[in-house]
Amino acid sequence: MTMIADKLIITVAPTGSVPKKKDTPYIPITPKEITECALRCEDEGASILHIHARDQEENPSDDLEIFKEIVESLMKRSDLILQISTGGRAGSEVESRIRRLQVRPEMASLTTGSVNFPTAAYVNPPDLIEGLAREMKRLKIKPEMEIFDVSMVYNALRLRDRELVSDPLHFNLVMGLQGAIPSTIEHMVHLCRCLPPGSTWTVSGIGEAQLRLGIHAILMKGHVRVGLEDNIYHRKGELATNEGQVRRIASLSREMGREIATPEDARKILRLSPTMGDN
Ligand code: MG
Repeated sequence: MTMIADKLIITVAPTGSVPKKKDTPYIPITPKEITECALRCEDEGASILHIHARDQEENPSDDLEIFKEIVESLMKRSDLILQISTGGRAGSEVESRIRRLQVRPEMASLTTGSVNFPTAAYVNPPDLIEGLAREMKRLKIKPEMEIFDVSMVYNALRLRDRELVSDPLHFNLVMGLQGAIPSTIEHMVHLCRCLPPGSTWTVSGIGEAQLRLGIHAILMKGHVRVGLEDNIYHRKGELATNEGQVRRIASLSREMGREIATPEDARKILRLSPTMGDN
């Protein structure tokens, strides 16, 4: 029997900011679609849901009511750990990005630096990062440090030195996005070596890197994020579903001897405090 600490946590990021229905009919956009999709992913072994909101035109939205609708319906119907994206494509103002934390998810993403995306800059200045970290600390929301480059690991460690975030830290290594760190195994190994002992990490391989890096993360005792936010294909020329991506990585992990963490297991592995998300 696998020890809980050795199990694989699967995060699913079903929506993101970019893919639209014209790109793939499998992208969930409305709160209802996101909820139904999340439940299917939970059945296949996902334990964390990374949430982005979209408006009726499918554009990224910072509307608190949309986040609320998704979070409230899933709290009733699932045991998933809900992780709100504080990403900036839906509005780069500090208030816009902090406000959505009011829905009190157990986790939220925190990008600890700036980077170029393929067609725009993703700007996260020091005062914004600090503001988000402070609010997450106040609301007892566990940050997932989104790492697009090596420097961002060290920015996260500086937040820890200033007691704005606390151990054990959790990182998401986002690799293979044009403009950010490339998706080589060497870079992944190096990023892992930069993480402080006792921290946990997951990998988000973008595009074709999703499966390749996911498999390596399973072998390296990391965790894996899948989902159409990062890659809309199952294999070249064949569109994926979110639940299909979860099913595939869960099956590969079991083949390699790692059982899949339930949401309860994942809470223990990530040391989510029992009071997180409450009150
Ligand atoms: Mg995201």
